[in-house]
Amino acid sequence: MKILITGGAGFIGSNLARKYLDRGDDVYVLDNLSTGKLDNIQYFLEKYKKQFFFQNGTILEDDILMEMTGIVDYVIHLAAAVGVKYIIDNPLESMETNIVGTENVLKWARKFKKKVFIASSSEVYGDQEKAPLEEEDSVVYGPSVKLRWSYAASKLVDEFLALAYYRTLGFPVVICRFFNIIGPNQTGEYGMVVPRFIECALKERNIPVYGDGNQSRTFTYIEDAVDAIMKMMDSNNCVGQIMNIGGEEEIKIIDLAQRIVDLTGSKSKIELIPYKKVYNSDFDDMKRRVPSLKKIKELIKYSPKYDLNRALKEIIEHRVKHNN
Ligand code: NAD
Repeated sequence: MKILITGGAGFIGSNLARKYLDRGDDVYVLDNLSTGKLDNIQYFLEKYKKQFFFQNGTILEDDILMEMTGIVDYVIHLAAAVGVKYIIDNPLESMETNIVGTENVLKWARKFKKKVFIASSSEVYGDQEKAPLEEEDSVVYGPSVKLRWSYAASKLVDEFLALAYYRTLGFPVVICRFFNIIGPNQTGEYGMVVPRFIECALKERNIPVYGDGNQSRTFTYIEDAVDAIMKMMDSNNCVGQIMNIGGEEEIKIIDLAQRIVDLTGSKSKIELIPYKKVYNSDFDDMKRRVPSLKKIKELIKYSPKYDLNRALKEIIEHRVKHNN
């Protein structure tokens, strides 16, 4: 099979590319390297010369998308402005990429009749306090003057667009809401909590926990996430569906920081930092974000192999070995 991965030089995309290459597929990556890195795909460019193709470009450009979509069997659309910090620092570019970019990807996929995977986010639930969160639960957002909500809203628009293509045209789309995917190649630069904490712990620096640290999340190891993406695309059950993918252990962020200190054997101290100091007034955080995994378990028999401890150990080991 030939697969186009938009955002394939990023964290999830590069791990997914490796799995497809190992399976014997040809992988085409389109990425503008805004948050992705050439380092993430350098190995594929050298080792899989006949199977791996990289185009440095943007999903906002029709010509590139037309050319690449035309040659592949399906499209995994991961390119997006990602991370709370990145969105707050780059509001206009983020909206364009996440809304106009996704519309472009869908437009060309429709033209060439190629199935599309749309990467959505647990952020779409917004401030919904229910736990666990089911795919058909209502979403709850703050005001549009708080940029924090723009990422959630842009991903929700992506879902509406994809569902409209499916409902109106019978066009095959698969939509997945990721709940904090973690693993090697993930950078802490744009506000991702696990790589930031691990880096601080390994360098014996204070670990910055925002707010009171009682906000809780679940985490999914990248291997489980990429296996699930491949299964969703290979299964007809998932067409026209929205599915959560997340971890099974809910943990408070302050406890996550302590666990990382323990697992690394670090002497780092935990430091509570008020949100205002980090994000000015543009920030509202969610107290809990716990996925219901009932639907994904039913549709693709999702059964994660990595619990949180195992995932953290893998990431720490990789970080120590490769220094990234
Ligand atoms: P990432 O930043 O590592 O990957 C995004 C990639 O998209 C980067 O390589 C970036 O350079 C590329 N990109 C950005 N704008 C582009 C453009 N205009 N044209 C081409 N490429 C562009 O982030 P990730 O964690 O790998 O996220 C992948 C997808 O999963 C995103 O859509 C993100 O919203 C979604 N997601 C991820 C998580 C998570 O926990 N990692 C959670 C929820 C949703």
